[in-house]
Formats: sequence, structure tokens, C-alpha cells
Amino acid sequence: MAARTIRTQVGIVGAGPAGLLLSHLLHLEGIESVVIESQSRAHIEERVRAGVLEQGTVDLLNAAGVGERMRREGLVHHGIELRFQHRGHRIDFQELTPGRAITVYAQHEVVKDLVQARLAAGGQVLFQVQDVAIGALEDDSAQIRFRHNDEDCRIACDYIAGCDGFHGICRSSVPQGVFRFYEKTYPFGWLGILAEAKPASGELIYANHERGFALLSMRTPKISRLYLQCRPDEDLSQWPDERIWEELQRRVESVDGFRVNEGPILQRGVTAMRSFVAEPMQYGRLFLAGDAAHIVPATGAKGLNLAAADVRVLAHALACRFRTGSGERLQGYSEICLRRVWRAQHFSWWMTSMMHRFEGSDGFDHRRQLAELDQVISSRSAAATLAENYTGLPFQLPGEEL
Ligand SMILES: Cc1cc2nc3c(=O)[nH]c(=O)nc-3n(C[C@H](O)[C@H](O)[C@H](O)COP(=O)(O)OP(=O)(O)OC[C@H]3O[C@@H](n4cnc5c(N)ncnc54)[C@H](O)[C@@H]3O)c2cc1C
Repeated sequence: MAARTIRTQVGIVGAGPAGLLLSHLLHLEGIESVVIESQSRAHIEERVRAGVLEQGTVDLLNAAGVGERMRREGLVHHGIELRFQHRGHRIDFQELTPGRAITVYAQHEVVKDLVQARLAAGGQVLFQVQDVAIGALEDDSAQIRFRHNDEDCRIACDYIAGCDGFHGICRSSVPQGVFRFYEKTYPFGWLGILAEAKPASGELIYANHERGFALLSMRTPKISRLYLQCRPDEDLSQWPDERIWEELQRRVESVDGFRVNEGPILQRGVTAMRSFVAEPMQYGRLFLAGDAAHIVPATGAKGLNLAAADVRVLAHALACRFRTGSGERLQGYSEICLRRVWRAQHFSWWMTSMMHRFEGSDGFDHRRQLAELDQVISSRSAAATLAENYTGLPFQLPGEEL
């Protein structure tokens, strides 16, 4: 039986932040798209991941009309704390990068807001699709084949956006040799928990400790998000609640007797630390965005923000293409995005190298880290570099100079 055919201008694979935001931005430009997602709506709306939004991401969500709940419920932070040798040192964003801040608002809340906006506008988001395959990328139009509700389906479209994350199928559907991959894996991961406990600090605390890195973050005024450096293949069964709390308390201890607030652990998981970039981020009618094209270690809080920056550029370039017929801006997509991606890679690597314990070192690395942290807290320009990168570099669109 012939597959059911859906015609649209842009077929989007993946309903993470990248795919949903792209679909919404295209809608604002009067461009039709269809999003397909392998998971259920409930799954993507509950999936706990990132939660730090750069100033530019916040501005973008507000300008796109999907920031109402984020403005109400998000927590605006004007600094972070670096803690080492049992003392805390505040990096003051407001003073170092006037007018810029970060907003703590969970990624799955951003996803909920975007799903709601797409469905309210009559947008098509097809959940729980299976057997997704993309093709005809070098022809006059592209296609996506999949199964949905036991039916063979086919999207015929002008362009495909591969927003299907690191493990998606879009990147690997391109002939071998087209992309060059750059990759670095770190000899540790993060054990992350979500706990029903009031955050112990009003701002994020990044702790460098002899026993390993720890990060105190939050999702709401009542829910803490806490991380411990661990082995990349850490066995969670070896981490009963008491051990997690004890280790967290030790890694963030300070001369003033600071304690992390404890409470029921709602969710736990281990995330690997990896840097990865695929270059270029496009091939024929396929454009990769977000984690499908690049991964950063979470220390810099850049993954979700890079996904938003990519689709901002892609939506603009597609709008130019459909409005004027010129594909020039689309051709410049990779180059514009990769400049930001590599700066975020550098920042994320730098934060990771400065904050984590490296096994097997005779202590040299730790002494070097302390010297680096000392420079960050005592040099205004070093602190400003951290603050500028953390709150987010300015956006650049094709044809614009920074
Ligand atoms: C487990 C995990 C924990 C993380 N924790 C943090 C954190 O604590 N802090 C931080 O800053 N960043 C974190 N990140 C990074 C951040 O969440 C990502 O950078 C962000 O999700 C990127 O958004 P995206 O839309 O590009 O990809 P994703 O959010 O991965 O979305 C891709 C979507 O595509 C779907 N999909 C995959 N394959 C297919 C297919 N074949 N067909 C259809 N749909 C498909 C997936 O189900 C998913 O919904 C984490 C990432 C992961 C994976």
C-alpha cells in the first residue's frame, strides 16, 4: 500500500528544544513545518536535562512569544559562586557584563511551552513515530519516511532539519566522508540528582574539591539539582541516598560551616562528559541543529543554548530562502553556527579542565587549577571573560558582523 504523503516546506526530525523552537520560529515567518518525534509527548515533557538559559536564549523565547511562564517561574541569577579551598568567591555578572544574567528554568518546561505553542497554532507534531529514514537530500526536494499509528507515512519537503539529538539518525544518513568529526571524551561523568530540598544557596555553586567536582544548582525554590563528578560508567546501585548526600556535603564544605539541604531524591542518573562537533552542519537539503551536530560537557551549561542559537540562524536563513528565492544565507548556515559552537566548546572545556579532579596526576593539575581559579577571582578581565561566556555571547546572523 502507498505511504500516506504529507507535504510541507520543512520536515523536522526531533521534538527537543531545537526542533520545537525551529518549528515555532518558522511559523512566525509564515513557513510551514511538520515535526516528528520518536518518544511520547509525556516523555519529552518530563525528561530532566539542562536548566540554565543564557540571556540571549531568554530574549529569543520572549521575542518569539513563548516566554510568559518562564518570566513568571524562572529564577533570574546575577552571578555564580566558585568554591575552592573551602571558600566561596562570587562572579558578579551584573557588574562584569552590565544588563546580562542567566535564568534557571528547566529544559522540560521550555519543551512544554513550545509544544503548547505549536499545537495552539495548529502546528503538526507527530509523537511516537518509528523507523524514521531520510532521503533524496541532493534532489529537488527531500523526504522523510516513517511509521505512525501503524501506517507508513512520508513527508515530502523542501528542506529537512535534523534536530534528533546525538543518537539520532539524520547525521548518520549522510554519505561517509561528507562530515568531519571532532571528539574528546573526558575520563569522568556527572552523577546528577533532582531532590525535593530547598536550594542551599540562591545562586549556583561550582566546587573544585580534592575528592572531585560538585555543582549545586536548582530548578525551583523547592527543588535542588545537584551533581557529583563520578566515573563515566558509574554504577548507580553503589550510590544509596546516604552516600550521595555525604559526598555532596564533603565536596562543598566551607569554612563557614555551609550545609546542603537534604530531601527525598526524585530522580538520578549518570551523564557522560563529551565534546563533539560534526563539520559542516549541512549537506544538500539537510541541516543539522543542536545535539545532532555538537555536544559539550555540561560544565559550561551551553548545550540547550547552542541548540537555540543554531535554530535562530536556521529559521532566519530559511525565511530568506523562501522569501527571496536566494539560498545564499542557507549556504552560510554552518559557518555562522560553527564559530559560536567552537567558542562554546572552548569555554566548556576550560570550565571542565579547571573544576574537575584528574586521576593519576601527582597533584600538578590540582595546583595548576588553584592558580587558574586564583586568577579568575583576582583579575577583573579574567572574571569578565567567564561572565561574558557564561551569560552568552552575542548572536550573529548571516551577513551581520559581530
Ligand atoms: C541525559 C542528558 C542530560 C543532560 N543534562 C544536562 C545538564 O544537566 N545541563 C546542561 O546544560 N545540558 C545538559 N544536557 C544537554 C542538553 O540537554 C542538550 O544540549 C539539549 O537537549 C539539546 O537539544 P536538542 O533539541 O538539540 O536535542 P534533544 O533534546 O536530544 O532532542 C532530540 C529529540 O529527537 C528525538 N529523536 C531522536 N532520534 C529520533 C528519530 N530517529 N526520529 C524522531 N525523533 C528522534 C529525541 O527523542 C529527542 O526528543 C543533557 C543532555 C542529555 C542527553
